[in-house]
Amino acid sequence: MRLLAGHLKFGSQRFGTRSPVSKEGFQCVKRRDLIEALADNLPSKSIRFGVQIVAVEIDPITSFPIIHIEDGSIIRTKVVIGCDGSNSVVAKTLGLKPTKLSGLRVAQGFTNYPDGHKLSPHFLLMRADKILLGRVPVNEKLVFWFTNQEFHPADLETRKDPALIRDQTVKSLKNSPQDVIEMVQRADLSSVSLVRVRYRAPWHLLLSNLFKETVTVAGDAMHPMDPAIGQGGCVALEDAVVLARCLAREMRAGSCTLALKRYETERRTRVSVLSMKSYLIGSLFTASWIKRVIYLVIFDKFLGGRFSHTQFDCGSL
Ligand SMILES: Cc1cc2nc3c(=O)[nH]c(=O)nc-3n(C[C@H](O)[C@H](O)[C@H](O)COP(=O)(O)OP(=O)(O)OC[C@H]3O[C@@H](n4cnc5c(N)ncnc54)[C@H](O)[C@@H]3O)c2cc1C
Repeated sequence: MRLLAGHLKFGSQRFGTRSPVSKEGFQCVKRRDLIEALADNLPSKSIRFGVQIVAVEIDPITSFPIIHIEDGSIIRTKVVIGCDGSNSVVAKTLGLKPTKLSGLRVAQGFTNYPDGHKLSPHFLLMRADKILLGRVPVNEKLVFWFTNQEFHPADLETRKDPALIRDQTVKSLKNSPQDVIEMVQRADLSSVSLVRVRYRAPWHLLLSNLFKETVTVAGDAMHPMDPAIGQGGCVALEDAVVLARCLAREMRAGSCTLALKRYETERRTRVSVLSMKSYLIGSLFTASWIKRVIYLVIFDKFLGGRFSHTQFDCGSL
């Protein structure tokens, strides 16, 4: 994919930046497609739906985990890998501190253009003082968009109604180009949602235990982050690759705990740096100008700048 860099101007504001996302290019994947692709590669009957975990404890005698289910039943197992998202029950077992709500919220959706959208395949990021808009084509007819704005208490009501989310997003984008406004106006309402951003503080990731006996976490259960740099899902896939590799290597020697220790060591720096990057970028919205300068200097000088994280190779299975 060819990437462009440069600034767009419209209205009286400098509002837009057309951003290259990585040297390798950029691929937008629908969450459902990804989940189905992953699930299709598992042996049949390996997934059980509707099982709500309420607690995980370590058996004091065997040191193996016991999973408590909402219906009162328990599952005894040798290993637990908690992929239960940003309110993870498994993370609590490890003693990780609860995740925090950031001051931001994201509205997002898909817009379908039955006759084709005719947009370039580039990831477009447009920024004004109080709103950031991202737009990326998924294919010739479908476009994904999101806006990032400061959270307002009224959003608690707005998020229940996709039409209201759409209308308020259109209102916030009133100085944007017409094609951007139309894109949001024409959004498929069943895809429109508004979420408040949660994150785990990067310094907690640096200092906390990410495993205990044979229990660990992956994905948002470990490192929910501001979606500002769009890495949460990607880095969850990296977790899976590294964890599978560690388990395969160390389990041959029969030590699951050693495998999880190795996993923790391999992942800690990577997820802490990414969490810090997304934390800083997300914080730019609400920070004073002096803090913005400091954040950008840290981002550029100490964390490798805007795209260095996209060059990461987590190795093979
Ligand atoms: C607005 C927004 C935009 C984003 N954009 C990007 C992007 O562009 N690129 C990117 O890479 N990432 C992005 N992300 C991040 C990405 O969505 C997440 O990092 C990713 O979904 C994490 O996957 P996960 O499987 O770890 O957690 P989740 O997707 O949260 O899945 C957790 C699963 O666990 C289940 N669960 C939860 N609790 C329990 C329980 N107690 N018992 C049983 N099951 C339970 C849930 O039902 C769910 O199925 C974005 C996030 C947001 C909010």
